[in-house]
Amino acid sequence: MNVELASPSTQTDIAIIGAGSQALTLVAHLLQKRSSLNNKFVTIDPSGKWMSRWQQQFAALKIPHLRSPAVHHPDPNPYALRRFAEGRSDELFPPYDLPGTQLFDDFCRDVVHRWQLEDRVLKAAVTRIQPITDWGRCRFQLELETGQLLKARRVVLATGSGKLQLPDWAHQISSAYPQERLRHSQQVDLRELHLQGERILIVGGGLTSGHLAVGAIALGAKVQIMVRRQLQERLFDADPGWLGPKYLKAFRAEADWEQRSSLIQQARNGGSMTPAIMTQLRRYSRSGQLRFDEQCEIVKAEWQDSCWRVSCTDGSEHECDRIWLATGTRFDATTEPLLKEVQEAFPTEMINGLPVLDEHLRWSGCELFVMGGLAALQLGPVARNLSGARMAGDRIVPALTKSSLALLPVRNVS
Ligand SMILES: Cc1cc2nc3c(=O)[nH]c(=O)nc-3n(C[C@H](O)[C@H](O)[C@H](O)COP(=O)(O)OP(=O)(O)OC[C@H]3O[C@@H](n4cnc5c(N)ncnc54)[C@H](O)[C@@H]3O)c2cc1C
Repeated sequence: MNVELASPSTQTDIAIIGAGSQALTLVAHLLQKRSSLNNKFVTIDPSGKWMSRWQQQFAALKIPHLRSPAVHHPDPNPYALRRFAEGRSDELFPPYDLPGTQLFDDFCRDVVHRWQLEDRVLKAAVTRIQPITDWGRCRFQLELETGQLLKARRVVLATGSGKLQLPDWAHQISSAYPQERLRHSQQVDLRELHLQGERILIVGGGLTSGHLAVGAIALGAKVQIMVRRQLQERLFDADPGWLGPKYLKAFRAEADWEQRSSLIQQARNGGSMTPAIMTQLRRYSRSGQLRFDEQCEIVKAEWQDSCWRVSCTDGSEHECDRIWLATGTRFDATTEPLLKEVQEAFPTEMINGLPVLDEHLRWSGCELFVMGGLAALQLGPVARNLSGARMAGDRIVPALTKSSLALLPVRNVS
């Protein structure tokens, strides 16, 4: 059952935009801290469900298990997933008990059930966040795609909000081509494709590239993985030192936001494959089903005679039937439509698209909180991950539950 707004214009204390892993983590942490807040928030997501985009992405790429270990999940108790997995130990994958996709989904459903959140997602997209003044305090009016209006005292933005990152050459293709022949990884759904005998060029050296390659080969395709630099092999997308004081102490002590931004970029350092997937890909490479092209960058692609002709900086030329861009996403608050009016009313310093938030991940001067990759200047390079969601919960929950941490009344914003 989905939530419905009682009237076209209604009010809530806390509006959480998005119902992904970040939002679920926040809500579970919030209710753990103060169960009386149970009827004081609304979560809004176009799917009307928790974790729908996560499930879609794992299913579309046929990902067998998570990259992060079993301690990372939305429940406040770090051991809850391990306990849930008792009797299902074959669904925890080496080397560090990486939860299987089905196990993780079942666990998240259990979190939703235990915290009685089944019917707490309002099915709608938020199309506008408008800061307004109400009795001398800043409030927000959310506009939903249904036309409904919702007033909220506090707002949490947990929309994922990564923008697809496309290489320049992809914007400059002059020939007309069938749309399905050039896709960003987030637009590929392996479940819908028949690839027998096709040649697929996958651009990018992250784990997504590896998942796509394995999936396409299983469907009978021949794959070429092209990477601008050398492929990197790492267990996790950021060093585990970023989960605790080893790196975070110095990161938090860094007062220069530009410096923090470059520390984040260095730590993520482009994409990397796990050793397990590299082993699988090398096997395919030996059997001729896969080819790696490292230190190779596309300068031009043209659709000619029903296939792609691709030219690279090193002068090499390639032909293929499909190109998939596993080139990642970029977090940029300056181009996030939902933040436009917030930024106009409460101008906030931005560093390479990331807002400078306070320690509670609050937008400067108002009660709008930001989760996920956009909170990286405070949380560090794992902000977008499950571990970052926990860190965000730890920062936001005190500000939502302690009146002493609320902002003072502000000037008029409308
Ligand atoms: C393939 C893949 C595998 C990953 N594996 C791992 C892993 O193993 N471990 C790990 O820690 N991290 C992993 N991540 C990274 C990260 O944990 C996930 O991307 C995670 O889903 C991010 O959670 P989120 O809540 O920020 O975003 P999402 O899961 O994208 O959820 C955001 C929700 O907000 C909704 N929304 C967007 N705009 C609006 C709007 N205007 N109004 C209302 N709702 C809106 C969306 O519909 C969506 O449901 C992975 C990412 C990908 C892509």
